[in-house]
Amino acid sequence: MTIQQQYESLGICREVYQFADKIEKNLKKRFDTLDTVAEFNQTKVIRAMQNARVSAECFQSTSGYGYHDLGRDTLETVYAECFCGEDALVRPQITCGTHALALALMSNLRPGEELLSPVGKPYDTLEEVIGIRPSKGSLAEYGISYRQVDLLPDGSFDYEGIRTALNEKTKLVTIQRSKGYATRPTLSVSKIGELISFIKKIKPDVICMVDNCYGEFVEEQEPLEVGADLIVGSLIKNPGGGLAPIGGYIVGKKQYVEQAGYRLTSPGLGKEVGASLGVIQSFYQGFFLAPSVVNAALKGAIFAATVYETLGFDVIPNSTESRHDIIQAVTFHNPDAMIAFCKGIQAAAPVDSYVTPEPWAMPGYDSDVIMAAGAFVQGSSIELSADGPVKPPYSVYFQGGLTWHHAKFGILMSLQKLYEQNLVNKDLMW
Ligand SMILES: *Cc1c(COP(=O)(O)O)cnc(C)c1O
Repeated sequence: MTIQQQYESLGICREVYQFADKIEKNLKKRFDTLDTVAEFNQTKVIRAMQNARVSAECFQSTSGYGYHDLGRDTLETVYAECFCGEDALVRPQITCGTHALALALMSNLRPGEELLSPVGKPYDTLEEVIGIRPSKGSLAEYGISYRQVDLLPDGSFDYEGIRTALNEKTKLVTIQRSKGYATRPTLSVSKIGELISFIKKIKPDVICMVDNCYGEFVEEQEPLEVGADLIVGSLIKNPGGGLAPIGGYIVGKKQYVEQAGYRLTSPGLGKEVGASLGVIQSFYQGFFLAPSVVNAALKGAIFAATVYETLGFDVIPNSTESRHDIIQAVTFHNPDAMIAFCKGIQAAAPVDSYVTPEPWAMPGYDSDVIMAAGAFVQGSSIELSADGPVKPPYSVYFQGGLTWHHAKFGILMSLQKLYEQNLVNKDLMW
C-alpha cells in the first residue's frame, strides 16, 4: 500500500490528503529550523543529566516519608541545571500546573502584599487562585491584593501602566508566557527579558515569576536566563515528555523554591520529605524525550496553522510567525466547525478513538468547554489534544502530539470532518 492508501484506509479522502501533502512539502525549511532547536535542547538535557550523575539507582521507587530520596533530589538538580536555576522542586505531589502556580504564589506572598500581572488576565484557573473570581482559599481571602495591567491593543507591554501599577506593596509579578485560552500573542523569552529588566529597574526586589506552561524547550533559552526569579510548569505538558503521569515543577532562586517546599509539605520539613513512589523513572525519561516531543508538537502546530490559514480561517499564530509555545489557536466563528475539528482530533487518537467529545462544564472554567484527547495520560496536553470554551469566537486551542506523524494524522482527520460536513470552502483546496 502507498502512504496515501494507508491514510484512505483510516478514513482520509484523497482530496484532503493531497491538499495537506502540498502544504507539508512547503514546510521543509521551517521544520529544519525546529530540528536545530530540538538538537540544542537535547544536548542541554543530556549535559544536565551527566553533570548531576544520574544513575540507575535514581530510578528506585521510594515510599513513606521519602527522606534521602536520591532519585528525587538528583532530578531536582537536573531541572535546576537545565533551566539555569539555583534550586528546583519537581514532585508528583504537585498535582497539576495550577497547583504548582498556586504553590509558588501562596508560599512567596504574605497578607498585605500585592501580586501584579503586567500581561493582562491570567489563565482561567488562576482567576480562582488569585480571587479575581471569588473562591474558597484564594489569595484574596488571605488579604493578598491583585493588580493587572492589560497588554496594549497591538499586544505590546503598557510600560506606563506597569510603572504606575508597581507600588510599595507589590511583592511578586506573574508573567504568563503562553497565551493560554486567549488570542493575544505568546511572549518570546527575549520579550519576557525586556519586561523583567524594566520592572527590576523600578523595583529591584520584586519577585518575577513566569508561568512557563507550554513554553519549555520551544526556544533555546528559558526565562531564568533573562532575569526571571522563578519558573513554574506542569509535567503533563512539555517537560514530562508524555511519560510523566502527574507532577509539576518550580525552578529558580533558592530562597523562593525553598518557600514553595515548606508550603508543599510543612514548615520545618520542606523539600526533605516526599517519596517519589513509582513514577521517578518516567520523570527522567520524559524529560530526556521532551525536546523531541516538543519538536513534534511544534511541527503539528505549524502544519495546522498553514492548513487552516490556507482555508481562510483565522489562526494564531499565523503560518509564518515565530513560535514561543506549542499552542495553535484556530478561530472558526461557528460552533459546528469547532466541534467537528475536535471530533477529528479524537478520531485520530491511539486511545479512545471511538468516543465522541461533547461540551461540558469543567471545574475552573466559566463556560462549557469541549475537549478532544485520546491520551495515554489522562488530560495530558503534550499529547495530541484540542480544546476550547464553547463561546464566541469559537476558537479551538490545539496542542501536542508525541510524534509528528500522529500530529499530522490528527490534523488530516480534523480537516476530513470539516470537509465531510461542508464546513470548509473546497475551492480553496486546489
Ligand atoms: C495549562 C496551563 C495552566 C494550568 O495547568 P493545569 O495543569 O491545567 O492545572 C496554567 N497556565 C497556563 C499558561 C497553562 O497553559
